[in-house]
Amino acid sequence: MCKFLFYKSKQIRRKPKSKNRLPVDDKKLNMGNTYSCAPKYYYDIEFTCIDCGAEQNWTARQQKWWYEKAGGYFFSTAIRCRECRKKERIRKEEARKAYFDGIQKKREKQHK
Ligand SMILES: [Zn+2]
Repeated sequence: MCKFLFYKSKQIRRKPKSKNRLPVDDKKLNMGNTYSCAPKYYYDIEFTCIDCGAEQNWTARQQKWWYEKAGGYFFSTAIRCRECRKKERIRKEEARKAYFDGIQKKREKQHK
């Protein structure tokens, strides 16, 4: 059975009637150990941002770039809109900074 989870996610609606499609170069895909079920084409996809609920359009062109140029893992997919991705990145950076600050403070304490 094809485990092509990509289009099965609840949040994602493939647009089958979209004329906007690009051929998939499956040699460039980062599919891990799964080589089956690579689709032939990228289609524009609609999805709902998991953070703010905004309707987003992920175009075939953007997918091709993500999977073939950026080396995105094939079963990873867009779940956040651009704005929320930006926020998420900042949040992660701050969390990491806070973590390292914490370590730093601990070390300073120990040396006193
Ligand atoms: Zn969002």
